[in-house]
This record gives sequence, C-alpha cells and structure tokens, in this order.
Amino acid sequence: MTDYDVIILGAGINGCGIARELSMRGKNVLILDKSSTGSGTSSKSSRLIHGGLRYLESLKFKLVHEALMDRKELAELYPDLVQFLPFYFPVYRSSPRKAWIIWIGLKLYDLLSDKYSDRRSKIIPRKEFILHASCLKQENLRAVFRYYDAKTNDLQLTQRVAEDAKDYGCMILENTHVKQIVHDQTHFSVSTNQRRFKAPVLINATGPWIDEVNEQFNLPAKYQIRKISGIHIVIHDLVSNDLLFMQTKGKRVFFIIPEPENNQTLIGTTEREEHISSDDVIVNPDDVKYLLDNINHYLNPDHQIHASDIKYTFIGIRPLIANKENPTNLSREYKLDLHKMNGTKLLHIFGGKLTTFLSLARNAADLID
Ligand SMILES: Cc1cc2nc3c(=O)[nH]c(=O)nc-3n(C[C@H](O)[C@H](O)[C@H](O)COP(=O)(O)OP(=O)(O)OC[C@H]3O[C@@H](n4cnc5c(N)ncnc54)[C@H](O)[C@@H]3O)c2cc1C
Repeated sequence: MTDYDVIILGAGINGCGIARELSMRGKNVLILDKSSTGSGTSSKSSRLIHGGLRYLESLKFKLVHEALMDRKELAELYPDLVQFLPFYFPVYRSSPRKAWIIWIGLKLYDLLSDKYSDRRSKIIPRKEFILHASCLKQENLRAVFRYYDAKTNDLQLTQRVAEDAKDYGCMILENTHVKQIVHDQTHFSVSTNQRRFKAPVLINATGPWIDEVNEQFNLPAKYQIRKISGIHIVIHDLVSNDLLFMQTKGKRVFFIIPEPENNQTLIGTTEREEHISSDDVIVNPDDVKYLLDNINHYLNPDHQIHASDIKYTFIGIRPLIANKENPTNLSREYKLDLHKMNGTKLLHIFGGKLTTFLSLARNAADLID
C-alpha cells in the first residue's frame, strides 16, 4: 500500500489543476484516471478561455468576473497556449438580441475585464467587416461589434497543467481502474487494477462521470449533475479568417472558430440532455444538422457548407449541477462539496469551466489544506 496526502480521481483540467495547486503547496498528490490525461470533456470543449459573454444575460456577474480574471492569469502563465484574439459579433435584422443590448453587454464585459484599453470592444464599420468575412451575407446586417477573448488548445493546456503538477512531485497514473474505495477513521484506501493506495483526503474530479463514481463506490454527495452534451463540427478549410460569434433564431449562440494552424474551422456548439452513461454518449445527427442549418442561414450561397465538408465531429458532456432549468439556463458555476468523515475528507468537484480551473483549484486546496 502506497501513502499519499491526497488522491484525486480524474485527470481532466480540474483534477490536474487541483493537483498542481496542492503539489505547489507541498502536498504529496496522486491522480488516478481510468483513461488518459485530458481525454474527457477537457479535450471536447470550444477551446475558448472566456468570461462567457452570454452569462451576463442571466446576471452571472460573479462567474463572468472570476472567469475574466482567470483568463488574464492564464494568458500570462501559458502565453504559448492561451492567446487573446478579436471576436466579431455581427447582428442582423432577424437577430433575437438587438444591437443596443449587445452593446451594453459588451461594455459591461469590458468593465469586468482587465484594463487593457486596446482590448476594449468597439463597433466595426460594416464595409470593413465584410472584407474580413466575405463568406457572410450582407443583406439585413445591422451592426458589427468586435471584442476580445482568448483561445487555447484544451488538450494541450490540460497536459501542460499535468506536467506542471508532475514537476512539483505529483504522480499521475493513467488507464488505472478503481475497483474499490473504503475508508476507516483516518484514511481512504483505493484499490485499483494495479495497486492499493491510501490517503486521508480523496477528491472526486471525474467531471461528467461524478454521479456514476459516487453511486459505484457509495460516496455521499450533496449534489447531482445533469449531463448536457455539446458537439462541434470541424470543417476542412477556413470558413472565415476571424472568430465569429453568431446568434441562432432560438436565442442560442454558436462560434465559428478558424484554426489556421490545421487549415480547419471549428463550429459549435449544441445542447442535449443525456440520460445514459458518459462512456456511451455519441454525436446525434440532428445536432450536426442543427449546426449546418444555423451556419448556412448566414452564409452566402457560394459558401454554403455541406455534410461532405465535415472533416470530423466530436462531443463533450458538460457536468452541470442539477436543477429544473432548461439546459441553456443551467448554471455554469461550480460547487465544491466537502464531507468530513472522522479524520478523512472527501471533496467532490461539481461543474467548473476550462477557464476557471485556476480559481477552482485554489478554492479546493484551501478547503482541504
Ligand atoms: C461542448 C462543450 C464546450 C465547452 N466549451 C468550453 C469553453 O470554450 N471554455 C470553457 O472554459 N469551458 C468549456 N466547456 C466546459 C469545460 O470543457 C468542462 O467544464 C471541463 O473540461 C470539465 O473538466 P473536468 O476536469 O471537470 O472533467 P473531465 O475533463 O471530463 O475529466 C474527468 C476525468 O475523469 C476521468 N474518470 C472518469 N471516471 C473515472 C473513474 N472511475 N476513475 C478515475 N478516473 C475517472 C475521465 O477519464 C476524465 O479524464 C465546454 C464543455 C462542453 C461539453
């Protein structure tokens, strides 16, 4: 049996972020993942490090502000992986949100962001915009805004955070299947297909698998999640040279994200509630059609995208805290659920965006330190 200060289940961005923070604080940390580092939701996101402009609509100022502060820190910490880019936000006559509402939202976003004046949002003359995005229809285009957010490579970011944790002494075991978890007065004992490990603190950071893990090992938890999947389609070639933030008629939003390094464009995302195991979730053809219909609504006839233009699709599952809201309105905030059991501590990580892993990790580490 090998002893650690903390055992973390799950090597996604949150598990690795917490391991990095705890290892920096001198703790002896072990991460166990049933698959590979970052293979869960942390490699299936929209790859944005952002405050989440649309959460301002539901008055989530604290969430947006925390994410914007984390965005700033991440761009400083990992400048090769997190870069600020201009996002263009065209508003058409049929758009469900009017231009003045978006303008107010963007000014609020500026206020909650860092103070770089060269990254303030602004109105872009339509003629100038069309030079950037000639693929888009011009008729009924009412206004175009430009604001700044950051983009990353989610898998590489998670792997880098894992490497940082390892540099501070953390051990990560991939492809390791937990068979049994028991606890006595002082320790959790975790048996795997390889060995048995023990620690006084156990952290469940298994993202969309959290309920399944709690049920399998009979771990007490205050919350449950709703699994809301989202797909992306990746198109051969660049649809536009700039990042575009678009609205659907149904008041949802989607991004058109050029990835010139791979000569491809990422388009997403969708929302679908899943009721099966997170291992079994697959892309639904209706969601592919939804994205194609919505993007083609804005594209000129000679730029229409067809199913044959799709290079590949991928799907991720948002582990959102369960309540009765519709998926779009479900909170993207995270909850840290701590259980003190005799001399042991069990901490569940519910929710949490890629962007907010730094503050989540600090708050989690403070709870168990
Ligand atoms: C479509 C979509 C788009 C998104 N876009 C963005 C975005 O642009 N920006 C942003 O900030 N956030 C975004 N998010 C949110 C973000 O990606 C996730 O919230 C975040 O990646 C969750 O990380 P995690 O570490 O909690 O979970 P995961 O990355 O899923 O990690 C959980 C890990 O636990 C492991 N595991 C599961 N069961 C076990 C077990 N029994 N034992 C051991 N290990 C186990 C899994 O293998 C996995 O590696 C998006 C999410 C989705 C779905």
